[in-house]
Amino acid sequence: MDAASDAAPEVTADATPDVTAAVSRRRLAIRAAVEQGLLSDAHPVVALLDVASVRESAARLRAAFAEVTAPGRPVLHAFAVKAASLVPVVRLLADCGLGCEVAGPGELALARAAGVAPERIVLDSPAKTTGELREALELGVALNVDNRQELERLDALLAPGALPSPPVSPVGLRVNPQIGGGGIAAMSTATATSKFGFALRDEGAREFVVRACVERPWITRLHCHVGSQGMPLEAMAAGVAATYELAEEINAAVGEQRIDTLDIGGGLPVNFASEEITPTFAEYARLLRDTVPGLFDGRYGLVTEFGRSLLAKCGLVLARVEYAKSAGGRPIAVTHAGAQVAVRTVFAPEAWPLRIAAHDGRGRPKEGPGLVQDVAGPCCFAGDLVARGRELPELEAGDLVALLDTGAYYFSTPFDYNSLPRPGVYGFTVGGDGGGGGGIGDGEDGEAPGNADGGRTDTVRFLTVRPPQTLDDVVAASGGAQRDALIAPRP
Ligand SMILES: *Cc1c(COP(=O)(O)O)cnc(C)c1O
Repeated sequence: MDAASDAAPEVTADATPDVTAAVSRRRLAIRAAVEQGLLSDAHPVVALLDVASVRESAARLRAAFAEVTAPGRPVLHAFAVKAASLVPVVRLLADCGLGCEVAGPGELALARAAGVAPERIVLDSPAKTTGELREALELGVALNVDNRQELERLDALLAPGALPSPPVSPVGLRVNPQIGGGGIAAMSTATATSKFGFALRDEGAREFVVRACVERPWITRLHCHVGSQGMPLEAMAAGVAATYELAEEINAAVGEQRIDTLDIGGGLPVNFASEEITPTFAEYARLLRDTVPGLFDGRYGLVTEFGRSLLAKCGLVLARVEYAKSAGGRPIAVTHAGAQVAVRTVFAPEAWPLRIAAHDGRGRPKEGPGLVQDVAGPCCFAGDLVARGRELPELEAGDLVALLDTGAYYFSTPFDYNSLPRPGVYGFTVGGDGGGGGGIGDGEDGEAPGNADGGRTDTVRFLTVRPPQTLDDVVAASGGAQRDALIAPRP
């Protein structure tokens, strides 16, 4: 299942991520975005994605699991498309050897538009319609059944003759091991009352699941995803262990190995507090091997579904400070990055703090004494702040702010509030490498080569991932063509 790509950089599980090179590339890209006119009055906010970082991240994931799995065992790393629902990003990850996890018809369409083969796609929505189930089965897309009623629908669809040709989709059951929640309630999917999967500790549920599998030879997988962000690694591993024990119980009841693959979900947390990449895929993979050795002894195939941990640190939102003002003694930088690109941070600031980097109008990192200030967005509600009381170099009109670690779930999931146009998303490469290289050429203006602020901006190439929405697009997406729909026809 693991299709290697020639373009994948050589990375071992232990390779320390070259954070310094990534920071240099990011700073260079910020300056280049100004110099190459990406940011303008018409486009005062843009999103940037470091192509080399994405490739490195994917390579680290693959190396981490290659290290712990028995030789020849299939591993499918299915990228959770909701973390970056952008066709070129899915395409890039597919080129790095990843598949896709999708939750619904839109994400399935994106994965297919990106050219991902059906056998490398896993469908996981908790609310699949009969039509979606049928489509997945006809395509050969793997799916994980969420509940009893969905199982009954599959019974009907898989009855002989119900579909034109016998389906080849692997089918799994999503289980909720009910091991408890993590640091963010909204992201915890393994609480006693979570809406996802078969709740294993509920009365009679485990027996039901075992019997359901014994009676249905087409159920060959179990799936768990115990949470996203805020889950301790040990809790994630405990969820996988509980799922593995259930697989063993089912296989014992069947008398042969019916369950042949475990889908362990995603959810590796991201460090939003510093440049450091921690925890790493390698740490998690080793913890899994130590906690659930039977899963890695060669009898089981694996599917993973990481999203945030693959991309968060590869992207940023760059926005202009339009005005700098003060209210009640608090300095406020009014920028063009708010709830429309940082929904979670604005509405749940305690759970989703972001690092913000201050740059001057030419894109150079701003130095200077710290000043406690608010960083506000452009939306018309008071809570539209991406940082409150944050100490940063004093922001002035014309400066830039970079919202760091926003490569997953931020700009790719915009919020249409105030009809603000969706910003353009651009991949960038430095020095024409596009691969794993971090070289940024010679310094200019007397700066040392490799200096964080050095490098030649003309070596940065921007690649359009999603063009900025035009005002015509905004009108069209807002019923522009239905202008007279509500004007009663006159008799
Ligand atoms: C959201 C989700 C993922 C990805 O979670 P991350 O925290 O982004 O890794 C994986 N699987 C399922 C079922 C999900 O809902």
